[in-house]
Amino acid sequence: MHYEVFDIQSLALDIFEQLENKAHKRSIQLMLEKNYPEGIYVNADYSRISQVLINLVSNAIKYNQDGGWVKVRFDEKEKEVLITVTDNGLGIPEEDIARVFERFYRVEKSRSKKQGGSGLGLAIVKHILEGHNASISVDSEENKGTSFSFNLEKGVLNNEEVNIQRTDSI
Ligand code: ATP
Ligand code: MG
Repeated sequence: MHYEVFDIQSLALDIFEQLENKAHKRSIQLMLEKNYPEGIYVNADYSRISQVLINLVSNAIKYNQDGGWVKVRFDEKEKEVLITVTDNGLGIPEEDIARVFERFYRVEKSRSKKQGGSGLGLAIVKHILEGHNASISVDSEENKGTSFSFNLEKGVLNNEEVNIQRTDSI
């Protein structure tokens, strides 16, 4: 685990760019619910959290309908940042919700939609977040949509780093 302070909003935007083609093909919109011009800083493992967001946003695209949307939202708490990925897609049947984090578990309906996948994405997400002492929660309703949320420790930049960031963005 390699902890560092980074801007998770800008990571989310990079991931939107990576997944843009996939989403665009099915007219699915990827958006930030609110834009923070100063960024949103967390203290976490950059590459692992990048994996978490890729898996969650990919699922939100994959298990969506054409013309749907995926929203990422950040809520700053005193010591933590709450990150939520919401879609208005297929949703998860109530009887399956508890099992989606198990390795190889896939909801039968999504399988019948012929969506490829191994059923490992969310098991990896949960494992990475456990390594950050964070848990993930899911809220879903069939044919309405799904939302996954988790907390990360807020990142504090020292003045020097703030200056570097400002210089970088000029
Ligand atoms: P992989 O991620 O390994 O390619 P996968 O997407 O099937 O395969 P997970 O990401 O672990 O595996 O997800 C497990 C199952 O949970 C999925 O097969 C799907 O049925 C359901 N699921 C996950 N995310 C969503 C979502 N946003 N909306 C609806 N169903 C979802
Ligand atoms: Mg997946």
